[in-house]
Amino acid sequence: MSRASIRSIGGPVLHATASGPFRLREAVEIGPKALLGEVVRLNGDEIVVQVYEDTTGLRPGAEVVGHGLPLAIRLGPGLLGNIFDGLLRPLSGADSTFVAAGMHRAVPSTFTFEPRVAAQDRLAPGAVYGIVTAGSGRAQRCISPPDVGGEVVAVASAGDYREDATICTLRLPDGRTHPLAMSHDWPVRTPRPVRRRLPSSAPLVTGQRIVDCLFPVAKGGRAAVPGGFGTGKTVLLEALAKGCNADVIVYLGCGERGNEMAGVLEEFPQLTDAKTGRPLMERTVIIANTSNMPVAAREASIYCAITVAEYFRDQGQDVALMADSTSRWAEALREVSGRFGEFPGEGGYPAYLSSRLADFYERAASVETLGGDHGSVTVIGAISPPSGDLSEPVTSHTKRYVKAFWTLDAKRAQARFYPAVHPLQSYSEDARDLGPWWAANGNGDWLKLRRRFLTLLDDQAHLERMARIIGKDALPLRQQLTLLCADVVNDAFLRQSAFSPVDRVCSPRRQALMMRLVGRFVDLAEAAVAAGVHPDRVGDLPSLRPLQRMGEDIPDAELGGFATLDANLDRDFAELMRSHEAGDATHR
Ligand code: ADP
Repeated sequence: MSRASIRSIGGPVLHATASGPFRLREAVEIGPKALLGEVVRLNGDEIVVQVYEDTTGLRPGAEVVGHGLPLAIRLGPGLLGNIFDGLLRPLSGADSTFVAAGMHRAVPSTFTFEPRVAAQDRLAPGAVYGIVTAGSGRAQRCISPPDVGGEVVAVASAGDYREDATICTLRLPDGRTHPLAMSHDWPVRTPRPVRRRLPSSAPLVTGQRIVDCLFPVAKGGRAAVPGGFGTGKTVLLEALAKGCNADVIVYLGCGERGNEMAGVLEEFPQLTDAKTGRPLMERTVIIANTSNMPVAAREASIYCAITVAEYFRDQGQDVALMADSTSRWAEALREVSGRFGEFPGEGGYPAYLSSRLADFYERAASVETLGGDHGSVTVIGAISPPSGDLSEPVTSHTKRYVKAFWTLDAKRAQARFYPAVHPLQSYSEDARDLGPWWAANGNGDWLKLRRRFLTLLDDQAHLERMARIIGKDALPLRQQLTLLCADVVNDAFLRQSAFSPVDRVCSPRRQALMMRLVGRFVDLAEAAVAAGVHPDRVGDLPSLRPLQRMGEDIPDAELGGFATLDANLDRDFAELMRSHEAGDATHR
C-alpha cells in the first residue's frame, strides 16, 4: 500500500506528496470518504490524481491511498438488466442518479450456479466453468478471467451463491491455488484478450432500412453518427438498441442532459423484446453519466462500457454498444486536460484525442474468444459537432477509425424526414463484404439494388441543382423520371418513423420485399418512359401512393400485402402502356 498527502485540489484534479511508490494509472482512494481516483502523472515525489467523484469538502493534508492496482471494474452476472454510473456503480432507477461517495461496487447479489467442470479438469483462461442463472431465468456463462487458468481443485455443487463467493478453486501452473467467483475484476483501460480477430461477413441487422440497405455496419464493426442538435441521434441510437439483432446491448449515455437520459432510464425498463417477448432490459446494460455527474468519471465511462461489452463478447455473445455522445466524452477529456495544465491542441482538445478515440473504437471486433467461441462487439458512437460542422476535431478523427458513417442532415430533420441520414454524406466500407450474407438471407439483389438506389439519389442531387436554374419541366423526360424515382426511393423505402408501431423495426425479409418492389417500380417506370410515356403519367398511377405508404401499411405479419402491391403495379403499368399505345395509334 502506498500513501500520499494532498497538497492542492482544483476541481477533479489534485496534487499530493507521496511517501511511497505509486504507479501511473494506479487507482487510489482519497480522503475520509475514500473517493475514487486514478494517478495520471508522476513527478518525483509529487503525484497528480484525477478524481472521479465530487471533491467538495476535501482538504489539503487528507490522505491518498493506493494498492498498486489499475482502475478496474467488477464483471459478473449482475450487470444485465441494471443501470450504472460511469464507474459501473449501480443507479437504482430513473429517479436515482445519485451514488454514495466512495462507494466502489454494487452490493453482490445471489445467483444460481451450475458447474460445467469437475475436479482435476484443466480450465484454460477465459473458458466456461459453469452456467449462472439470474432471477429472470436468463442463463449466462461463468468464464475464468482471461489471465487465469489451471487445474480444477474443487468446484461448488449446483445451488445458489453470492456472486463474490468462491465457487471454484484452481491450481495455477506455479503451484499456487486461486479462487474463482462468478464475477471477476478487469482493468478498464486494458482490452480483454482474444484468440484471434475474425473478418466479419454478417451485418448487425439494425431494422432501420437506410442503415441495413444503404450504409450497413458489420457485426464487430464500428459506426459513427454525427449530427447537429435535434437531428435525431438519440432517437436513432435508441431505435438501434431496441431493434438490432445483437444478443446484448450496452447503452452508454455520456454527458447528455439529465432529462434526456431520464427518457432512456424510464423507457427501457418498460420495453418488451420483440424477439423473445421478455423485458428488453434482461439483455441490456445501461451506463449513465449525465452532464450533472463528475466530469472525470465521464472520461472513464467509455472504457467501462467497452469493457462490459467485451466481457459479454467473451461469453460468445454478439454485443452492440451505443455511445451517446462521444463529443461529450471528448469535452470531458478536454476539461480534465485543461486542469492538468496540458498544452491544448486542435479545438482545445488534448493532442492525444485521436489516440484515445482509436483506443475506444479499435476494441470493436468480431473474434474467436479465448474459450473458442465466436463473439463480437459492434460500436456505434454518436457525435454532436458544434453547429453541425463535420470538420471539427472529434468528427474528423473519428472518421479515421470507423467504417460506417451516418451523417444526420439538419435539412432532412427540419423536413421531418427520419431517419435524417444524408444519403450522399454517409458511407459504409463494410457494404461490399455483406452482399453474400444478404443473398443467403433472401435478398440476392441487395448489392445491385443498393447501387441503383445510391445512383438515383446521387443523380437527384445534381438534377435538383439544375432544375432550380432551368426549371424542372425543361429537363429531358428521362431526367424528370430520375427525380420521380429518387423521391420514391426516399418516401417508400428510406423514410421510417422510430415511433410507428408497424415500421419502427423492419425485418430483413420485409426489407428485401420493399427493396425489390421499389426496384421493380423503377424498372417499369424506366421502360414506360423509354417507350414514350410522359413521367407525369407515371407519377399519377393509382398504386404509387400505396407504394409510398407501404412501410406504414404493411406489417411483418401480413407480408402478402407486398405481392398485392406488386400485382397492382403490374396492372397499372400494363394499363398505362395500353392507353399510351392506343393514344399513339389514334394520334397516327
Ligand atoms: P438529437 O439527439 O440529435 O439532439 P433527438 O434524437 O433527440 O435529436 O431527436 C429530436 C426529435 O426528432 C425527436 O424528439 C423526434 O421527434 C424526432 N425524430 C428523430 N429521429 C426520429 C425518427 N427516426 N423517427 C421519428 N422521429 C424522429
